[in-house]
Amino acid sequence: MPWWKEEPWRLIQTNLREIDMQDLSAERYAADLKDFHATVVLLNAAGISAGYDTKLPYHSKNPYLTGDSLERIVKLCHENGIRVIARADFSKVRRNVYEMHPEWAFRTEHGDVMEQNGFVQTCLCGDYQQKYAFEILEELFGRIPFDGLYCNMGGFQTRDYEFRDYGFCHCRSCREAFRNYSGKELPEQRDSQDPAWREYEDFQKHMLTDYRKKMAGFLKGISGEICFDDVDYARIEAATEVSTRLPHWIYHASSNCRAIIGDGTSGIICSNTSVSYPGYGLRHASVSPALHAMRLWQNMANLGALDYYLIGRLDTAADRSAFETVKRIFAFREKHDAVYRNLRSTASVLLRRKDRWVATEEEKGWIRVLTEAHIPFAEILPDAMKQADLSRYRVVILADEGELEQQEGDRIDEYVLRGGTVIASGQNRIRESPAESGGTKFLRSSGILKLEKEDRQAMSAQLLLEKEEKQAFPSHQAIDAVPVGDTYFFLEWDEAAKTFLKLIPLQPFGPPECCYSREVWDYPGLIDYTYGSGRYFTLPWLPGSFYSKTGHSNTVGIMRDILTEHCGLVSVAADLTPMAEVTVSEDDSGHILIQLVNNSGAFGLTFFDPLPVEQVSLQIPTEKIPVSVISLMGGHVTWRKENGTLFLLLDRLAEYDALRIEFEDGGSADERQYS
Ligand SMILES: [Zn+2]
Repeated sequence: MPWWKEEPWRLIQTNLREIDMQDLSAERYAADLKDFHATVVLLNAAGISAGYDTKLPYHSKNPYLTGDSLERIVKLCHENGIRVIARADFSKVRRNVYEMHPEWAFRTEHGDVMEQNGFVQTCLCGDYQQKYAFEILEELFGRIPFDGLYCNMGGFQTRDYEFRDYGFCHCRSCREAFRNYSGKELPEQRDSQDPAWREYEDFQKHMLTDYRKKMAGFLKGISGEICFDDVDYARIEAATEVSTRLPHWIYHASSNCRAIIGDGTSGIICSNTSVSYPGYGLRHASVSPALHAMRLWQNMANLGALDYYLIGRLDTAADRSAFETVKRIFAFREKHDAVYRNLRSTASVLLRRKDRWVATEEEKGWIRVLTEAHIPFAEILPDAMKQADLSRYRVVILADEGELEQQEGDRIDEYVLRGGTVIASGQNRIRESPAESGGTKFLRSSGILKLEKEDRQAMSAQLLLEKEEKQAFPSHQAIDAVPVGDTYFFLEWDEAAKTFLKLIPLQPFGPPECCYSREVWDYPGLIDYTYGSGRYFTLPWLPGSFYSKTGHSNTVGIMRDILTEHCGLVSVAADLTPMAEVTVSEDDSGHILIQLVNNSGAFGLTFFDPLPVEQVSLQIPTEKIPVSVISLMGGHVTWRKENGTLFLLLDRLAEYDALRIEFEDGGSADERQYS
């Protein structure tokens, strides 16, 4: 078994600047990592700047290689039980290399390069990434026994570090590769509706998959003990960025881990890093220690590994405010590592996520509602969704996912036919093949026949909740009309479907005297369609986006009532504050681990230490009777079992806790350690 399958994964990335190698002491470096309880380190080795004495002419050598060598660092780390992953960045070359090989560069539509601070962007299709990068890797791994590789900024980058957009690449290699792939010229513009652009997006995906496969094959050819990003582990980031990522996405770490782990069948290690700095322009400052703590606990609760990333070295960092927090959490994980092995989520809800890096606004809204209602759920990315066994889930959520491939649509139809439930907000339709034309295609299981009109200026519209519908929406006893938000889709639906709520159309907004509408239309807020043995709920608006952007409780009520009253989902912590997060998982022996993260320190833009929560009660469905229930944080837990539910009471939740529930037929864990 390769090392990453057996050894604990607690990673620290020291993202070294060139001058960090000037006086680096390998002894100190390894000792600092030990002090942080790290088992894996990620450090800069090749690409933009070679961290060793390279003999390759176009591999720019770091001019500050006067401290201990990479060879010595790797040797000392290995002696201290620390694995070392090499970081390479083939996305850029220095200006002098570009001048010798201008054909390696990314090119805008007008033939310009993307250049910042003397570094020129290279193109994935060009020979630097396709050929020369492999010469560099051959030299690197031939010289130094690294345990893995991480390639930074891979793929088709279109923006620089200041987020300037240069459009898509028009270099000669891209034009040739696209011609070979499609027989066509590059599309004229980015237009998601244009079949030419879609084909180009497919081409990018094909090139990327091919490239990663080629690199993985190359590395495995050197040694089966070299791990590679996205194959053996997946590196992703929980980060902030000044002005572009506000307000903070407080479930960023949880959501990242869930999306990478998906339905749990890939077995990939999710290394979601807590990025130290607040933004690219503030590389040497740290975000609040409480935010690092929240992210690291969220990683653990959602079955990710621990990962912390800072610029430069641990011994010379200018802002060390988070160090003790990181060490404390890494030490906790070290102490209890055995408990976190081979866990899988027992969630019965699956939320599809469009993009790996961050959830969309609509997805975020559903993630918030599920988390805050304590309904455990998994997230899944499109490629994994195509393979997933949906029958494991009671409810699948499509949060304005746009276009699904026919094959995926067929799988969802089959899932509903056999008794599954879908909640679909916004637009979820089948992607047409380039040969097809005509109207939008909806899923058969949805009962939706046609999109009549899309209104993106619907902000003053409302959904009327009539008296007789209040039973179906118990959260809304004192609310008769719910704001729609800015978007409403006018649909035509199968008349066999049942509908709820009615649209009160746009009204003027201005002086109160004119703020009313006397009309109520038959367009609904919820369409409930039975297909085979299953149900498909359509919300022709974007409640998730509205909740994510505004945070008000009236939208939450509707969403939560659909989850609980209409879909029959049950909270595992009905009385617990929405500010704490609960996850439930089990190991190979059937022992359960309940994890709680107290997110109550998230206060506006600042993160403080969370307020303790007293008397946490949990209701876990299980037929089994525990032999022991233990809080890993040393809390006091009592329990009773009644009618297929295990009722637990934890005396106090500080920032995090994990309740290990063992059953008689299990017993793989070391009980003595936790008693
Ligand atoms: Zn190109």
